[in-house]
Amino acid sequence: MPTHSLHLARDVVQVCGTNDPFIVADYLGIEVWYENLPPHIGGFFTRIFDSAYIVINSEKPWPWQRAIAAHELGHALLHNDSHTFLATSNFVTYSKIEREANQFAAALLIGDEALTEGESIYEFAQRMSVPVEFVQSLHEDFFLGGRLT
Ligand SMILES: [Zn+2]
Repeated sequence: MPTHSLHLARDVVQVCGTNDPFIVADYLGIEVWYENLPPHIGGFFTRIFDSAYIVINSEKPWPWQRAIAAHELGHALLHNDSHTFLATSNFVTYSKIEREANQFAAALLIGDEALTEGESIYEFAQRMSVPVEFVQSLHEDFFLGGRLT
């Protein structure tokens, strides 16, 4: 598990005093807009002149909006580049920058939290206010081999 995304997420939480991606975006001067986007687009990050925007698909359920916002924040901080998050039915990706954005999002939204005894992955996702698909996509990194250290 690459540690850069994790350390960045920890720094962000410390500086901003929250792991809420919407408050973090505000802190960083990134405007968050909600638009009725096509279903296959979860959201995107873009820069227009000196301004930075995260646009979220307003039709997505709240946990998806949180995860998408955190994912786009990852692009804003790690890649500094415009990017569209194509929301498929899950967060699984084989692209390096997509994985990095997801790892940042996971480090921000989940951090050191882990499944408690007897807790299902669905209950855990609900407790973290993220989509279960998001947790499932991280299974390997977070729950099998990796510990967020
Ligand atoms: Zn992305």
